[in-house]
Amino acid sequence: MNVAIPFTKLELKAYPMIQKIEVGMRGVANDNCDYKGLIGTVSELRYGQQKETENDCILEVVMDFEEPLHGSLEDLYPVLNGTGIGGVVLDEESVGIFFEDNVAQTLDGKIVCPTCHLLLDYVSEVQEDDIHWNLENGVWMKTNGEGSSNGKRCPYCDARIDDDNAILDY
Ligand SMILES: [Zn+2]
Repeated sequence: MNVAIPFTKLELKAYPMIQKIEVGMRGVANDNCDYKGLIGTVSELRYGQQKETENDCILEVVMDFEEPLHGSLEDLYPVLNGTGIGGVVLDEESVGIFFEDNVAQTLDGKIVCPTCHLLLDYVSEVQEDDIHWNLENGVWMKTNGEGSSNGKRCPYCDARIDDDNAILDY
């Protein structure tokens, strides 16, 4: 836990995960900024007097992003206009952190969809029961099969959210 930063009660209420963010954690930019989808490492956290931008934010999260795995930065992020992706300053609204292994969460706890990078405050899954009736000796007997599921899904892009049940527990 990051006890060095004296977040206020209001800040902690609005962003319950903000105390958990630490330098060295992996993160992803979400749909609130031009860097959305880029993954990297938190290299610095700046709060209060330490903030260096004019942004009206609580926390400056400095990210060292990595080149996209598929495709070139120039093709995928023309909006960045060739600016660097190291030392990018994001705010508490624009970053998702991989507190758990697979799925990033914003500092207020929303899941960052790994495909569309929108922020999710709900995820849905449709499960179907698989019920059979078998005629045995003149009597219809009901059995329940294993059923099926379409998986946890992003409500916006329908991509699967594979969190290993670490966040969305059953
Ligand atoms: Zn999505």
